[in-house]
Amino acid sequence: MNCKYCGYPIPKAAAICPHCKRMLTQEQLKQRKEMNGYMTPYAERIEKLQYEMNKNNIEKNEQHINIKPYALILIVLLIIILIVWIF
Ligand SMILES: [Zn+2]
Repeated sequence: MNCKYCGYPIPKAAAICPHCKRMLTQEQLKQRKEMNGYMTPYAERIEKLQYEMNKNNIEKNEQHINIKPYALILIVLLIIILIVWIF
């Protein structure tokens, strides 16, 4: 398997490219798992880490969506206050 970023061939047991030091993507780790039939403990740990990172990002995005309605209500309230204040 070659590195997705620099094309350097990656040894079977490595989860990080020895040339550009970038982590393999989850997709590549999955591909390798299918090819080898097993995962090295290290690659498994990296996959778990990436999974946790993705999960955290999704949770952060959901929180961001939850904040938006409050911001909208605040803006509407401000506009109402402004209109009342002008008249
Ligand atoms: Zn590389």
